[in-house]
Amino acid sequence: MKCPFCNPNEEAVLYEDGLIRILLDSYPASRGHLLVVPRRHVESWWELSGEEKAALIRGMELAMEKLKEVLKPDAFNVGMNLGREAGQTVPHLHLHVIPRWKGDCAHPRGGVRKAVLDLEDENLSLKERWVKNRLSGEEVERLREAFGQHFE
Ligand SMILES: [Zn+2]
Repeated sequence: MKCPFCNPNEEAVLYEDGLIRILLDSYPASRGHLLVVPRRHVESWWELSGEEKAALIRGMELAMEKLKEVLKPDAFNVGMNLGREAGQTVPHLHLHVIPRWKGDCAHPRGGVRKAVLDLEDENLSLKERWVKNRLSGEEVERLREAFGQHFE
């Protein structure tokens, strides 16, 4: 199977440089959910070089900056699923940047700590969430333009 992060759909790519890409998540958990991935196909954190680790953090910051500019979220969840038992499904390391808004879920308390709970309704309705959270074409264009300044 082709790795979706080594061969991303062009439409999903907002930013890339020599070390990382920033992609729109295909099944966004919230509006504007982005992924920061190393260019190199690496499954685990331990295989990354120091330079790649630094680039991921820089990408996380850039993603939050651009989301703030375009979608004006109130907060962010940031996290990585490192290993299958932690929920990693694509074997190419990726860092989630999930913008959050006041009132976007009933019980935000705990944030990423809830990763260990069985929230069946959350896990079983990926398609519904995608439909609810996908950005309009115009919003994607605004995000793309915001990142565009950094392509040089
Ligand atoms: Zn890959």
